Amino acid sequence: VTRTADLTLFDFDHSFARSLQGLYEPWQAAAIPDATLLELNEPLAVELSLDPSALRTPEGVLALVGNTAATAADSIAQAYAGHQFGNYSPRLGDGRALLLGELVDATGSRRDVHLKGSGRTPFARGGDGRAAVGPMLREYVMSEAMHALGIPTTRSLAVVATGEPVRRETELPGAVLVRIASSHLRVGTFQYAAATGDAELLRRLADYAIERHHPDLASDASLGDAERYLAFYERILAVQADLVAQWMLVGFIHGVLNTDNVTISGETIDYGPCAFMDEFDPATVFSSIDHAGRYAYGSQPQITQWNLARLGETLLPLLAEDADAAVELATGVLGTFPERYTRAFDAGLRRKLGLGSDVADAALADDWFRMLHEQRVDFTTAFRSLAAAVRGEVDVTRALFDDPAPFDAWAQRWSAERSRQGDDAEAIAARMDRANPIYIPRNHLVEEALAAATAGDLALVDELVAVVRDPFTERPGLERYAQPAPTDFGPHQTFCGT
Ligand code: AMP
Ligand code: MG
Repeated sequence: VTRTADLTLFDFDHSFARSLQGLYEPWQAAAIPDATLLELNEPLAVELSLDPSALRTPEGVLALVGNTAATAADSIAQAYAGHQFGNYSPRLGDGRALLLGELVDATGSRRDVHLKGSGRTPFARGGDGRAAVGPMLREYVMSEAMHALGIPTTRSLAVVATGEPVRRETELPGAVLVRIASSHLRVGTFQYAAATGDAELLRRLADYAIERHHPDLASDASLGDAERYLAFYERILAVQADLVAQWMLVGFIHGVLNTDNVTISGETIDYGPCAFMDEFDPATVFSSIDHAGRYAYGSQPQITQWNLARLGETLLPLLAEDADAAVELATGVLGTFPERYTRAFDAGLRRKLGLGSDVADAALADDWFRMLHEQRVDFTTAFRSLAAAVRGEVDVTRALFDDPAPFDAWAQRWSAERSRQGDDAEAIAARMDRANPIYIPRNHLVEEALAAATAGDLALVDELVAVVRDPFTERPGLERYAQPAPTDFGPHQTFCGT
């Protein structure tokens, strides 16, 4: 492979490596003798000004997985710490992942090209550095679905099979995921920098993050340093509050909200044990190791605030000379979380219910959720059906309830609220159809598609990706993608560290 061929594929910058010595180890991807491209995200490639046909060539595939001279030249494993299920680990880091470099587009926006499953690194601890085909395709499907739902997320550019087996409970085919993110800065990155005790490193990290994600703050000469760092903390809190509100509005359960899996950018990251809720129940947990329900659906807002508290602790030395004053400032910002979250959630919920900004019946939304919970109704189906009700087919929703009486009473109140808006029914229903997806990556369909892919047949994964890429538009022939799991699917379980 020639360097020239490489350079036409990726023109990397390396601002993280340049600016943040002390927060990474230079490291190269394991050699992959038999790389096969399983999935290439062509729309994303085009968005990144990459040529899909060049990426599909044998050299292109090797470049994608850090196996050419140019893509291996400056790759690094990033250091981070993190609270895992509440317990602090001082040194996590990219145990099986690497940052190849950054792509900067014409508008100046910078994005990381990152590998997962690329071999052991100095942060691997006991891990094998590998990843299996199924879980990497899972991240591909789930992150594409989230993006199509309009939820901030890391993206998946490609999944490449390694041709090598990975030992899990059984032997599985190995793969590398090529992940794109606006950055891989995490709460855990700040925890790691703060724990070094090197105040200058912490400041460099904060300055780097501000320059990258909030250049308007970096260039605002009216702000003193401490004010800028406080404003930075406010911005992170805002994007995280908005993010978790969006998850809650589509029934998404992240599953492993450790501080190393919480981004500074506000993008969803780490699609290990995540899943969409079926029947509405705030206590829903899918992860096999989350016995206490720490990361249950209904706990996600509070856990996000807890994670932001850990971030605030790391920033204290930057907020004020006096420790008590710094704590007071950070606590003040943190205290705005519930209001910020509630505002974002309520606004989204009004869109989903077809309501305007002035809702007189304050208990309307709570009563809707109580009915869904009491009668174990499928979250996605229930919300989507409401547009049909607005169009006059109220029986579609009514039929979802074993006991329709509470729904009938609720529907009267709901209808009264809607009529106060004075908008015509079709306009309201059409807006609702853009807020309530009909197609989400349902657990039974994801599992079915990944099982087939692990056995070598990608057709179902391809079809699932095509379906969830357009989640709001009902299409004929896709009925099975809109249906809840059959009852014999049983309780769903997901796994970490796959
Ligand atoms: P995660 O659960 O994916 O957020 O990973 C938590 C930590 O474990 C990170 O530091 C990962 O890099 C590391 N890790 C997970 N799986 C492996 C593996 N198979 N080999 C090495 N490190 C791993
Ligand atoms: Mg992680």
